Amino acid sequence: MKVALLLGIAAFSLGTASPPAPEDIDLLIRGGTIYTGDEAPFTGDLLIKGDRIVRVVHYREGVAPLRVADTRVIDAKGMIVAPGFIDPHTHMGDDLASDDPAKRLIPAFLMQGVTTAFIGNDGGGTPDVAKVLGSAFARPVGINYAAYVGFGAVREKVVGEADRAPTADEMADMKALVVDGMCHGALGLSTGLFYAPQSFAKTEEVVALAREAGKRGGVYDSHIRDESSYTVGLAAAIDEAIRIGREGGLPAHISHIKALGVDVQGQAPAIIAKVNAARKAGQNVTADQYPWDASGTSLVASLMPLWAQDGGRPALLKRFDDPALAEKLRTGITENLRKRGGPEKLLIVEGKFANQTLAQVMQARGEDAVTAAIAVIRIGDPGVVSFNQTEADIAAFMRQPWVMTGSDASGGHPRVYGTFARKYAKYVVADHVLTLREFIERSSAFPADWFGLKDRGHLKPGAFADVVVFDPKTYASRATYEQPTLLAAGVQTVLVNGVLAVDKGALTGKAGGRALPHAPTPGSCR
Ligand SMILES: [Zn+2]
Repeated sequence: MKVALLLGIAAFSLGTASPPAPEDIDLLIRGGTIYTGDEAPFTGDLLIKGDRIVRVVHYREGVAPLRVADTRVIDAKGMIVAPGFIDPHTHMGDDLASDDPAKRLIPAFLMQGVTTAFIGNDGGGTPDVAKVLGSAFARPVGINYAAYVGFGAVREKVVGEADRAPTADEMADMKALVVDGMCHGALGLSTGLFYAPQSFAKTEEVVALAREAGKRGGVYDSHIRDESSYTVGLAAAIDEAIRIGREGGLPAHISHIKALGVDVQGQAPAIIAKVNAARKAGQNVTADQYPWDASGTSLVASLMPLWAQDGGRPALLKRFDDPALAEKLRTGITENLRKRGGPEKLLIVEGKFANQTLAQVMQARGEDAVTAAIAVIRIGDPGVVSFNQTEADIAAFMRQPWVMTGSDASGGHPRVYGTFARKYAKYVVADHVLTLREFIERSSAFPADWFGLKDRGHLKPGAFADVVVFDPKTYASRATYEQPTLLAAGVQTVLVNGVLAVDKGALTGKAGGRALPHAPTPGSCR
């Protein structure tokens, strides 16, 4: 796959004395509209050798396109050429570690042009970061990935599921796990303070652990304590995330920022003001967001009161059978259902009741909402999509220059297969919330720079050849809430570290991904 490139016609016509030597490259992406991640778009060529970009050629007026002598040329005329997209919040860790090589390709992402994903978000990342990052050596993966050490995994390992503060010894053990994760390449500390048992932690406990990540150059990434009005409320939860960043001395990143549920809809401007104030005061605060009005969670997490979850699933099931708790439970579930907008706003996407709203389950069973929800949870804890955000809030968050694109990819929600493509088709093309350049840069260069992904997120000489070529007329999500696993349309070519992962609009089956260990601050790990 060698291309002898002859820098011929153009240079001669401008009066160069002798012809330059042919350039030795592997691949030429020719004549596309190039968004480098740093500047206004232009028409030109991208030259790739091995895993790197060697040149970006800008067609200027009066300069003819480069002449090439061989065949491995990708015609990108009429196409957008951009840095491969970077997804800072996903739940693809299991797929990346799967026994099935086809799963490890992550087709849902490649077919949207996503070339890098983060895992271990929401506090879920195992402290054994070395193992997570090491697995790609033995088992090839389709995309690059980086990993968090997760507060939930750490706390569960040391304290268990109970609602109590850690002892001093346990605190030391938790710190040691965070340090170990950081020193083996974690991006930082992730939390999901909404979820039990992480929700049992006080702010100070999280600050102490975040500080250990910060000392080693990590960031704090948080699914905040409350995106709605469950406990402290959205505004206070945002304040807490900012405080943890400030007191922990590290950059803070708010996962999938949103105003969830009827009680907080319309609060986006107030939340944005809080983040802007912190940024103005010199703090480094950012967020990511998925472009969907439904969130994805589980039936237990969306409806069960936190007190009822103390002790995990066995304790929850026991409480279902305790007549003394029945009324308290009913009141709590009813209130959470109200916040979520009612039983028709919860669509179950897994298990026996897949593709039915809770309202439909109620009807079929002839039961009220609480009884039906408990009956479903007795069988399992299915994923649900919960329609709970307004378009005005979504657009307001999206317009902020500190908001990146992130899928929060997890099963049953179309965001896995469609986030980036939908953001383009709906919020760039149809609704004009963002320009194409803003969409591209907030999906590539910005996350790469903010999270310190060296030589990624930009199309420039020396950078890794993570590239997407898509058709601006057809790039769109095909996945829907009813059919969440349809691959996106419109992506023609994807390179991952120079490996052609998508060619002529189809997966090649080639796995070019790598683990991306974060380099801890020099001297911070012994
Ligand atoms: Zn989350």
